[in-house]
Amino acid sequence: LHRNAGETEFHQAVHEVLETLGPVLVKYPEFADKKIIQRICEPERQIIFRVPWQDDKGEIHINRAFRVEFNSALGPYKGGMRFHPSVYLGIIKFLGFEQIFKNALTGLPIGGGKGGSDFDPKGKSDDEVMRFCQSLITELYRHIGEYTDVPAGDIGVGSREIGYMFGQYKRITNRYESGVFTGKGLDWGGSRARTEATGYGTVYFTQEMLKAQGDDMEGKRVLVSGSGNVAIYAIEKAHDLGATVVACSDSSGFVLDEKGIDLETLKRIKEVERQRISNYLEYHPHAKYISGGSIWSVPCDIALPCATQNELNGSDAKMLVQNGCIAVAEGANMPTTPEGVQVFQAANLRYGPGKAANAGGVATSALEMQQNASRDSWTSEYTQRRLREIMVDIHTSCYETASEFGCEGNYVMGANITGFIKVARAMTAMGVI
Ligand code: NDP
Repeated sequence: LHRNAGETEFHQAVHEVLETLGPVLVKYPEFADKKIIQRICEPERQIIFRVPWQDDKGEIHINRAFRVEFNSALGPYKGGMRFHPSVYLGIIKFLGFEQIFKNALTGLPIGGGKGGSDFDPKGKSDDEVMRFCQSLITELYRHIGEYTDVPAGDIGVGSREIGYMFGQYKRITNRYESGVFTGKGLDWGGSRARTEATGYGTVYFTQEMLKAQGDDMEGKRVLVSGSGNVAIYAIEKAHDLGATVVACSDSSGFVLDEKGIDLETLKRIKEVERQRISNYLEYHPHAKYISGGSIWSVPCDIALPCATQNELNGSDAKMLVQNGCIAVAEGANMPTTPEGVQVFQAANLRYGPGKAANAGGVATSALEMQQNASRDSWTSEYTQRRLREIMVDIHTSCYETASEFGCEGNYVMGANITGFIKVARAMTAMGVI
């Protein structure tokens, strides 16, 4: 703990993985001999740097940025960049650590990394965001590359920010190295279905958890927290599969629309106007807006937390269980607190942890890298089919691994063990590096 003092989210993520690995070390004692656990918890490289930039009035601001290159046993470091005022080393390390196992679960050749900055894009002009991104890349460019480290988006980083970062990288390096970023625009090397992939993938994973019990999404009442990239496309896919999403949120409150959240309105408010979710009522006055309330108090069959870490605590989990919720799948990373996870597991509810349920985003990023490497561009149908197959495979391997280790239906055990064994085998094969 003293090596990583104060990094509470990182401690939480490590604890959650390590507490499931006991049976693996019994079955594979060589992993203990080779000190895989100790090595996997220490990032291979951590970069912290200053990002100075000027706002539209000429005032100078200084932000701090991070890139944690956690593990490259399976491929180049891969993981998003997060721009949010809460960002500090502990958040980036938790995200990078989770990413190792998530990326392994996809079955694709990608290692784990994550980055970000305490920069707040809210209320900034396009020009200010551009100047910030350019300044950040002026340092970060020397650490990334298609064979080294491949960043993407996360909270506060979408195709606008990726565009500015990629543009600056291209300018400094004098190389059109498409594979250095994923989440690019379709006209300049992006993959079809990448924007939708995390949200769609989370719903596919939910569908598989339900199918394993002879059920499906049709007719289900769903809550989705957040109203950003992951939330919007989780809502879209849930509606496609016959469910009704009745509520979604942002950090100020949530909207309840018993007729089902209108996706066109949501996309206009969030993707075009970059407004707050409360604006939904201007278009749909019959809906309700609850400022500051917990979205998890609304009765539902399925809950999809798609906003941020630790947004669903023990009492939220109890409310969901009492109200008859049968499945929870995490579109966000570590949105459920450890107390919340305990409640779900005690209630025997289907609970899909983020590293399995939201792996569709990074999986499609790896498909974007494949398209860039072969200078190809796949159709939406083909890319979505690959995404769906990958999510079904992730579900199957988590389910089967959990059963093999005597805890059928425990997707936390299944995801952690499956991901860990893949990385541990590669690390063992590569010697003590
Ligand atoms: P966006 O920035 O597009 O959206 C984030 C959403 O979450 C917004 O509605 C935001 O509301 C809300 N939110 C952010 N911080 C808080 C907070 N502290 N409390 C309550 N609500 C908050 O991000 P994404 O949709 O890309 O990411 C959402 C989650 O999904 C994150 O956990 C991310 O790590 C994870 N994820 C994302 C992937 C991707 O492909 N984008 C891939 C895998 C996981 P507000 O506007 O009020 O801040």
